[in-house]
Amino acid sequence: MLEQLGLISSYWSKAFGANKIFSARTEKIPNVDLNLEDYTMLYRMVENGTTPKVKIISTSKELGEMPTFNTIAQIKGVEKPDEYVILSAHFDSWDGGQGTTDNGTGSLVMMEAMRILKKFYPNPKRTIMVGHWGSEEQGLNGSRAFVEDYPEIVENTQAVFNQDNGTGRVVDINGQGFLNSYDYLSDWLSEVPQNVKKHIETEFPGNPGGGGTDHASFVAAGVPAFNLSALDWAYWNYTWHTNLDTYDKIVFDDLKNNVILTAILAYKASEDVDKASRERRIMPESTVNPRTGRTMRSRGWPSVRKPNRDGTSSR
Ligand SMILES: [Zn+2]
Repeated sequence: MLEQLGLISSYWSKAFGANKIFSARTEKIPNVDLNLEDYTMLYRMVENGTTPKVKIISTSKELGEMPTFNTIAQIKGVEKPDEYVILSAHFDSWDGGQGTTDNGTGSLVMMEAMRILKKFYPNPKRTIMVGHWGSEEQGLNGSRAFVEDYPEIVENTQAVFNQDNGTGRVVDINGQGFLNSYDYLSDWLSEVPQNVKKHIETEFPGNPGGGGTDHASFVAAGVPAFNLSALDWAYWNYTWHTNLDTYDKIVFDDLKNNVILTAILAYKASEDVDKASRERRIMPESTVNPRTGRTMRSRGWPSVRKPNRDGTSSR
């Protein structure tokens, strides 16, 4: 019997030079992803009987169970220190590239918004907190753990703004199923300069996000939490979990745009005389799947899910 030394696979991302990088599909032997062009050349060589030899030098090590962290910072509120506005992005990434657009750029936006807020709005009415979550990629574990561990913060959070889909400018904000979100979100957006917000489409009351990124952990707990959804710049094929998710993909003009948007939303949400309504829309009993045309039973409001704290995937 042949001894198995390792597995070479190729998960093409349907973009030039891009391969998806997720977990290994093996437990005892290394699994290496080879770029499509090289992989298919190897394949043809094997098919034509040239018996290619491959030498792989890998420096990665299996370190067993490793801790993961949330990184939290705050500017303490002056008038209502026990109420919160939370800026949200995740700090972990897949390691095929540098994790730039997933979610380096979201993290950059939140850090820069915090820097600006600290400089120009050092004494906010409510506490402004930023959460850079860990272990998002294994199932929103960092933000779910935060929601589970800090019920008093969750109870008193005015709004959460999350960004996690690439380096483009924000073009879509959805009310996440909160019945009165139109009232306060349009008020908060009213101070955003026209050139920053003119591409943004809104949908109210919208539907609650059930997963995919960290605002969903808060929505499930009934917190008005919104996703600042960006123009994707071919994100899904080119950079999302690929070897091409590298620093050169950053579009700084768009990030500056998103920083201005986020900082103003945080400022307005903090200053609001009212606490944002958490009233939920009535969920439809059924929905039509736009792809199949089939009627499906509605899932209802997403329920709070426990974080996985032992390092295995819960998604
Ligand atoms: Zn992400």
